[in-house]
This record gives sequence, C-alpha cells and structure tokens, in this order.
Amino acid sequence: NSFEKFNLSEEIVRAINILGYTEPTSVQEEVIPQLLQGKDLIVKSQTGSGKTAAFAIPMCEIIEWEERKPQVLVLTPTRELALQIQEDIFNIGRYKRIKVEAVFGRSSFEKQEKNLKQRTHVVVATPGRLIDHLTRGTIDLSKITNVVIDESDEMMAMGFIEQIENIIKAIPNKRTMALFSATMPPAIKKLSQSYLKAPQFIEV
Ligand code: AMP
Repeated sequence: NSFEKFNLSEEIVRAINILGYTEPTSVQEEVIPQLLQGKDLIVKSQTGSGKTAAFAIPMCEIIEWEERKPQVLVLTPTRELALQIQEDIFNIGRYKRIKVEAVFGRSSFEKQEKNLKQRTHVVVATPGRLIDHLTRGTIDLSKITNVVIDESDEMMAMGFIEQIENIIKAIPNKRTMALFSATMPPAIKKLSQSYLKAPQFIEV
C-alpha cells in the first residue's frame, strides 16, 4: 500500500486498507505530508478529488487519544457535508478509536452538548451552530491544534464570513490551518492573509 510512505501509524494504514484505497490521489499526495508537518495550506480542489481523506488522514494521525478536549475542528457549510465528513473521519480513525462529533443546526442542541462533554477528538461543524455552542459555553476550543475550513467559497457565498472569523478568533494562536476551496475569490485570499501563517498554495 503506497500510503505507507507517509509513515502513518499502523491503525491508520489498516483503516485505509479496509477502505480499499491503494494509491493516494494527487491532492492527498500533496496535502498529507504538509499537514503532518504542521504547515498552513490553501488547497484549490474539487469534490471527488479525495480532498476529505486528504485532511482526514493527517488529522487522525496527529490526534492524541488521551486528550479529552477537541483537538481538530472542521468547518463546513451544510449538515449533509458535516455528516459525510464525520463518517469519513470515523472510518479512517476507527482503529485508533477516534471520537468525532458533528455539530449542525436544526438538530438537538442538548444532545450535541451532552456528546461534547464526553471525550471528543474532532468536531465537524457548521458555523452557526458552533457559534451557538461558543456563546453558551458548551464547547471548549482551548485545545484545538488543527483547523480545516472546507468548501470555503461555499461558506463565503452563504454569508458565513463573520461567523468564521469569530470562530477562528476563539482558537489558540498556535495551530495549523488548512483552507479548502473549489474556487479562489478575493474573499478567500483575504481570509488566508488574515489568519494563515506563510501558507503553501496547492492546486490540483
Ligand atoms: P471527496 O473528494 O473527498 O468527496 O472523495 C471522493 C471519493 O473518493 C470518496 O468516495 C472517497 O471515498 C474516495 N477516495 C478518497 N481517497 C481515495 C483513494 N486514495 N483511492 C480511492 N478512492 C478514494
């Protein structure tokens, strides 16, 4: 299996094998080593390119199981995407017993609150509901080390910019951030200039 060259732990390689992935896609080839090294990234890639696994694999690898508070935050525009990403992360992290919670609107706040009190390694969230949890103090972002902003252009188009900025401001400064987008409108460039540190630009 040619994912072995990334020096991933046995639990992650086993999960990738079960999923039947034998070769990394081009976006995975570029993104996995950079995120493992903690580099900030702007990635221009389309749905279907394997972009979810491109961030899910390194995120699952870097997670420290013992830490009870969330370490990875993935922002995404819709509940459907949040559920899809949650499933992909669950599949890649299953042998490491990674706990991933999806947080989105029009769904029980209390249930999410209860789950967030348990061990949670990864939070996959839509911006509005995450802000609600922040406002009510029902989520702790103090241990977040990695942030992924998925479908950034979609989120801009949906008017989430202010919420995204407020969320980023609530996250510790020492973090790795990756911004994924199918297109690169000026608002995305501005966002990356404000919050990313010497980002590498990857286009596949
Ligand atoms: P995405 O671009 O994240 O929506 O992924 C598109 C599809 O490609 C998903 O169904 C993945 O399960 C699949 N996939 C991701 N990485 C690989 C890989 N390395 N080899 C084969 N299929 C993959």
